[in-house]
Amino acid sequence: MTDPVIAGLLDGRPRIGPRTVHIDVTNACNAACVTCWDHSPLLDTPRPITWKRRRLAADRFFALVDELAALGSVRAIVISGMGEPLVHPDVYDFIAAVKAQGWHLTIITNLIAADIDRLAQSGVDQLLVGVQGVTPASYTAFHPGWTEADFFRLCQYLRVLGEEGVRCRHVQVINRDLAWEVVEMVRFGQLFRADRVNYKLASLAEGTEACIATPLQLAWLAAEGIPQARALAAELGVPTNLDLFARQVDAALGRPQATTPIEEVGCAMGYVYSRITVDQDVLFCCNTEVHVGTLADGARFADLWYGPAWQALRDRLAAGDYFEGCARCGKFEQNVKWAERLGAQRLGAQRLGADRLEAERQRTERALP
Ligand code: SF4
Repeated sequence: MTDPVIAGLLDGRPRIGPRTVHIDVTNACNAACVTCWDHSPLLDTPRPITWKRRRLAADRFFALVDELAALGSVRAIVISGMGEPLVHPDVYDFIAAVKAQGWHLTIITNLIAADIDRLAQSGVDQLLVGVQGVTPASYTAFHPGWTEADFFRLCQYLRVLGEEGVRCRHVQVINRDLAWEVVEMVRFGQLFRADRVNYKLASLAEGTEACIATPLQLAWLAAEGIPQARALAAELGVPTNLDLFARQVDAALGRPQATTPIEEVGCAMGYVYSRITVDQDVLFCCNTEVHVGTLADGARFADLWYGPAWQALRDRLAAGDYFEGCARCGKFEQNVKWAERLGAQRLGAQRLGADRLEAERQRTERALP
């Protein structure tokens, strides 16, 4: 039977609601990472305090969970924020509400605000931990205002989570403070039982360019740092995304053939994913440039998902008319996976013939809730 997501992709219209919904619960943050677009002290124009104080009300979160459950399609929730989700006073109730639905739950966090034993026992399936440095010196350079004690707290919390078997993926955003540590990040990942180490070249703007990796660092990363990190990862058995990171570094060095070619891959996110901000703006993906609508005026999520604004975005992207930020697509790996699945289905469709494909589509439609 054709996967209903694939059926929708082939048809250009979704057959079911999203599988993954990303919910921002707060703009407030306990950190001030130098690369952050919202909280960095390097920003030319800091965000207003009123913006930083905004958070999603608990009753709104629970109502959203009910609404998403009614769609019948959701399998996974990501809890994060433009700030740090673990500073929300109701976050452990949010975790319980998501897990009560039987959904997979990922939390994106720097961990420092965690009640670590409670978090470890909460049933969360995966943590994407913003580590950002594997020595006290680099960690405190990346996190102005934090001290060595915070670095050792992070290490202690990672150890607890590792011992409890909670899946932790380490995120390392590479800038001038961290570039020389890419090899040691693999060792740090192994030490704390990371299920993967994810590297990402810092995406910088509005003043944060001041902390960009230098040309010398980029050249070293391409010639030595990444190959050494790859070799160590293979030796220690630590999964990484170093292939993708190498392409990012090559692109930053001005080798355009190495950029991530989203136009060759296509965008499947309009059929599987959405992000909802603290202000209840509904986004097409993690790219804040791609805005669909708002729930703040009482609109229902399902009406937006199947409505004209969302469809116009799907049609625009299907026609190859991408947004500026798509060149740095944060969902590139997921889009590649969907393109692979779709490619296989397309081949299958040719073998089946158009009539059988149509019959298959109709059968899928009847089977949908
Ligand atoms: S950044 Fe562009 S290509 Fe990537 S998921 Fe968003 S809309 Fe799609």
